[in-house]
Amino acid sequence: LQSPISQSPSRHTLLEALAAIPGVYVPALYDVSYAADGTVAAVTPNHPAAPAEVLKRVVTVLPPPVTKFIVPFINVVHNRAAIEIMRGCTRGCRFCQAGMIFRPVRERPVDEVLQAVDEMIEHCGFEEVSFLSLSSSDYSYVEELVRRTVERHGAKKLSVGLPSLRIESFSVDLMDLLEKGRRRSGFTFAPEAATDRLRDVINKPIASAELLATAEEVYKRGWTTIKMYFMIGHPTQTLEDVQAIADLSKEVLAVGRRVLGKKANVRIGVSTLVPKPHTPFQWVPMEDERVINAQIELLQRELRGPGIHFSWNDPEETLVEAFLTRGDRRLSDVIELAWRKGAKLEGWGEYFNFPAWQDAFAELGLDMDWYARRARALDEVLPWEHISAGLKKQFLVDEYVHTYQGGVVDDCREHCFSCGILGYFKEQRRDAPDAGWGCPSLGRGKERQPVDIAPIPLYFNDDMSPELTGQFDHRVPQRREGTVSKRIGD
Ligand code: SF4
Repeated sequence: LQSPISQSPSRHTLLEALAAIPGVYVPALYDVSYAADGTVAAVTPNHPAAPAEVLKRVVTVLPPPVTKFIVPFINVVHNRAAIEIMRGCTRGCRFCQAGMIFRPVRERPVDEVLQAVDEMIEHCGFEEVSFLSLSSSDYSYVEELVRRTVERHGAKKLSVGLPSLRIESFSVDLMDLLEKGRRRSGFTFAPEAATDRLRDVINKPIASAELLATAEEVYKRGWTTIKMYFMIGHPTQTLEDVQAIADLSKEVLAVGRRVLGKKANVRIGVSTLVPKPHTPFQWVPMEDERVINAQIELLQRELRGPGIHFSWNDPEETLVEAFLTRGDRRLSDVIELAWRKGAKLEGWGEYFNFPAWQDAFAELGLDMDWYARRARALDEVLPWEHISAGLKKQFLVDEYVHTYQGGVVDDCREHCFSCGILGYFKEQRRDAPDAGWGCPSLGRGKERQPVDIAPIPLYFNDDMSPELTGQFDHRVPQRREGTVSKRIGD
């Protein structure tokens, strides 16, 4: 690969060499056949160098963050130093692709993060640092990190961002420390659904009562705006669940008005669920267009007035995202044709060219809704099944079944469900420090969380599966009690 261009291998030799590297997928070395109903019949390697399944690779121990990088001389989006404090997430929200495909959890030591902050400030001159992860409250050393960052840099007025916090008072404590002495504008929550039942369905079980208590704490400590992100179109969602988005938003605003008067406000962002590959939702249909429009209209009617700002995603842009997300190879022709017809800057609302996509689909005899809104059978060959994110299919199937039962499963740092990661990457787990991964450590006499071969719900939602409730009540619904933060407190 490093030879000069004049001696470079032929394209085919290069592809063969790439396919032999673990974790590299070379589409040209696979043939796809289709069944009469249009679904994928099989994806078959056509070359001995191509494995039947391409398994992702993982970094055993995250290397120290890059601290010397090019600094833009114009103002750009995210113009700040970003440091990844942890990779992966163990919460298991069923809609979340990142939470599934970036397993296992690997944390950077707090000293390494602090050193990176020092170096980035020195080398690049940033005044703003953002600690990144999928769920920052779950970083085991988050309290220590925040405290020590403030001790070292508070006086220099370094601004520190800590996004992706859980909805609990512990998060408010953290932000309180970080933003001491600064103007406080927005505090962000992502409940994703507005009823306890629907949050059980998506496996993000925060009780509304807890959300309201946290909101009160936020307003009391001086933040004037609470931003909340919701999704519509979750499986089993009803119009009542959508109405609940409006009701809960107004309740949060009422809390703010009680605490701060007219200064308090809420900003509500609503997007439509786009079911993603490699998640338990990969088999579910995206919501029907008419239903989505009716739900957005309901929210437009409800979420207006002083102190409320409501924004939503354009359903047509969401549809493009949806058919591309679960598309197959035939969509490459659609993409090329749409481009030829003028679809070029599709991420920019004003240039978004939906008719070009419609024409491309029509000309090629394909159907957007077939890709976006079709429920898949559990035994259908999915176009991405030959790529493995390290998850067992049975794990995703179990979680898909739990979705419709309202079964809530635990944070797997409390209880491992053998999702597949430990099976695929056990050698790397052995090489990693015991505390460096969220997965159980291997070897005799090691301290580890309990391990089960399948996800065991902490509880089933009473309304959805009355026949199953009570089965596991001896288990503590830890996530409602915020165990990770409690553990730090202990
Ligand atoms: S192997 Fe266990 S602890 Fe590790 S990510 Fe999977 S379920 Fe979680």
